[in-house]
Amino acid sequence: MRVVYDRDACEGHNRCYLLAPEVFDVDDEGYAILRIEGEVPPELEDKARLAADNCPEYAITIEA
Ligand code: SF4
Repeated sequence: MRVVYDRDACEGHNRCYLLAPEVFDVDDEGYAILRIEGEVPPELEDKARLAADNCPEYAITIEA
């Protein structure tokens, strides 16, 4: 599984960081930073999905 993050769509709510801090960080302007480029470790897949499902701007997508 891979996470794709769309910086242009992100509005900086930081829900992703709150739900999955192992997967997302926050930059100085409050926008998300994807911490995991490439394959997501299996133990973080549920959190990555949770973050994607809860992003109000649909800025996070999951690729199988
Ligand atoms: S939840 Fe979505 S809109 Fe909010 S910071 Fe994360 S990626 Fe951006």
